[in-house]
Amino acid sequence: MVTPLRLYDTYSRQLREFPPSDSPARKNLETPITYYTCGPTVYDYAHIGNFRAYIFEDQVVRALEYLGWTVKQVMNLTDVDDKTIHGANPKGESVPAVEMLGRLGAYTAPHIEAFFEDTDSLNIRRAAVYPRATEHIPEMVRLIGALIENGYAYEGDDGSWYFSIKKFSRYGYLSGIKIEDVRLGARVSADEYEKEDARDFALWKKARPGEPAWDPKEFDSGSPLPVGRPGWHIECSAMSMKHLGETIDAHSGGHDNIFPHHENEIAQSEGATGKRFVRHWIHCGYLLVDGEKMSKSKGNYFRLRDVLQRGYNPLAIRLLLLSTHYRKPLNFTFEGLKGAEKNLKQLQAFLRRLERERTTVAEGPKSLGIGMGGAGVAINQAKDEFAKALTEDLNIAKALAAIFEMTRVVNTMLDDGMVLQEEMEQASEALLGFDHVLGLKLDEVREGEGVDAAFVETKLAERAKAKKAKDYARADAIRDELAALGVIVEDTPQGTKWFYAK
Ligand code: AMP
Ligand code: ZN
Repeated sequence: MVTPLRLYDTYSRQLREFPPSDSPARKNLETPITYYTCGPTVYDYAHIGNFRAYIFEDQVVRALEYLGWTVKQVMNLTDVDDKTIHGANPKGESVPAVEMLGRLGAYTAPHIEAFFEDTDSLNIRRAAVYPRATEHIPEMVRLIGALIENGYAYEGDDGSWYFSIKKFSRYGYLSGIKIEDVRLGARVSADEYEKEDARDFALWKKARPGEPAWDPKEFDSGSPLPVGRPGWHIECSAMSMKHLGETIDAHSGGHDNIFPHHENEIAQSEGATGKRFVRHWIHCGYLLVDGEKMSKSKGNYFRLRDVLQRGYNPLAIRLLLLSTHYRKPLNFTFEGLKGAEKNLKQLQAFLRRLERERTTVAEGPKSLGIGMGGAGVAINQAKDEFAKALTEDLNIAKALAAIFEMTRVVNTMLDDGMVLQEEMEQASEALLGFDHVLGLKLDEVREGEGVDAAFVETKLAERAKAKKAKDYARADAIRDELAALGVIVEDTPQGTKWFYAK
């Protein structure tokens, strides 16, 4: 079954069906939805605010797949821009351009490695491609060439090339800014600037001492561009087109990407191709600390490793970051994180209980009696509500509420011996299905348990035999062997019981 969802589109400022009706993915299910996600600027370790954006994007992909679609996600790595250059040459030494390229590579490499490590520990699935800006300079040069040809780009008196925002009539539509006449013609060469500073922005910056540089004539002999380097915004336009095509289904980032980055991407891309760049724009809200956006510049940030060092489970961080609706701001606190850890443990314990009771508890007399089947109803209801919540602007908070309600109802019924074994199986399957979207690695909990169950039963039978033969040393050795695997064995008047306690 394939179901479109209703997803908020920043450009039209309304909920719209996704994938959009004109997406090729709607006509042929084997055609993937094309999705570009602005990735990290690898000048430092990413902070958990950045990871709120990446986890949200991972959720978009996972939810679409759960609803039956296929997705091709591309996430770029910004490895050349003002920040990475500053990091590689903080004192602005007059290093030759070629040497600077080497320095830049050496400076960004450990940050790229750390980014992938963090991505994996948060169980963010890998995108199909992670293009690097430094590997797409020819595409950028050609794109700027098309802008020059179409009359959108001009050379400034500093020798750099700029995009003329007044030439692009839709400039400002995404962010809603109005360009006052006074700002027209004024230029900004920095990669990042505020809305109040909206101006013609740099496409290609002329080489300066101490910066890496490329010769555009190597890629396009007729290019009028000087030796230099790209502006940040053109990087994403070029990489998106190269890996996903001139028009794509969705593009996303955090709220701060709307202006100027995405506004500029639209202007450059549509100015060059004359085609719509992105059908649907999606942006997530900020992770805050004490009510303020978590950001490197404010210094109020936690890197993932800072939080892990305090002993927290990365999957609890994942659960915390995804459990508030993606468009709402989320205030980060360690109290909140503890709450997420508790919720994660609750889901794990529920799954373990299902597995344990399914494999060890015989169908009791009650399970043949009246009033059975209630658990099945609760499970189906949770499945319906979960899928519905995803289609309502990716309402993971509501989807989670449906899961916890199922957990509560089935747990109570388990206490009363009112759950059929096939319902226990259904409940585990449902939970593992939900986890395709949540990504909390619940399958690992269950697998550990599932393998143990058969093994534990054999071992317990062996132990019973040893006890009968009064070989207590052997019986104790088996108990210790199981304890090492996290299996606790208890001899009760009703017989031997065991549970998994890792
Ligand atoms: P940057 O490396 O600064 O380009 O940021 C990478 C991604 O993280 C972008 O999509 C940003 O919009 C996003 N981002 C940065 N800070 C936050 C935050 N506090 N909350 C949510 N997303 C953020
Ligand atoms: Zn970008």
